[in-house]
Amino acid sequence: MDLPRWLTDRQWLNLSRLPRFERRQIVIIVLFAIGLIAAGVLANLSCRLRHAARPSPRQAYGSATVVRVRSGDTLRIDRNDELLALAGIRAPGDDEPQCDESRRRCAELVLNQAITIAYDAQDRDADGRLVAYVDCNGVCVNSRLVEDGLAWVRLTPGTQRRSAELLAAQARARKARLGVWSLPPPDVEKSYELDPAGGLFHRTGCGAAGPAAQGASAVPREGVASRDACFERGAAPCPLCRP
Ligand SMILES: [Zn+2]
Repeated sequence: MDLPRWLTDRQWLNLSRLPRFERRQIVIIVLFAIGLIAAGVLANLSCRLRHAARPSPRQAYGSATVVRVRSGDTLRIDRNDELLALAGIRAPGDDEPQCDESRRRCAELVLNQAITIAYDAQDRDADGRLVAYVDCNGVCVNSRLVEDGLAWVRLTPGTQRRSAELLAAQARARKARLGVWSLPPPDVEKSYELDPAGGLFHRTGCGAAGPAAQGASAVPREGVASRDACFERGAAPCPLCRP
């Protein structure tokens, strides 16, 4: 079989046979191509270096070990010694009833254990803590604490991904009167103020600073008729006015 002439004729490889201006053009094109490739490699490298310097949590985390349980909804993990707030829930604080029970249960579930971390739209809070769902030994810890009545559901605009699961768990805990649902309910108000950005509800006139005061965009509170309606919307009671 005859090969095409331009393949058999090796003259095309021999630059010295080309007229001088063509040689120069070829050299310029080759140098230009090398320059383009080098620029691409450098741009890619600098992008990778920048990401390595300040990693997005989504890339940097996926698993960790819990080294301390601060409360029923806040853990310290070994990676970068970070604090992690459990997304979509609020556990009783230091001087609230069921605080110790909640912390103890959380520790039983995760302390010194390997966990898997899953992020929602919001991955850090105003205090710089990671905000995430934590799965440990096949259990979603956020849901389990709500299921046991040791945390309230607290949905914010950035933590909605597991809202159905969390609200269903809360409905079961309320029905079974577990944990916080075993306590006598506080005095009933005529209506409550729901803060959708903070995922909390308040007694009328409570001056607790919501996320708006912490720099997030201001969202007005909504009047809601009953505690039940607030819980069904995924709002947790404010730790200050304790409605
Ligand atoms: Zn309040």
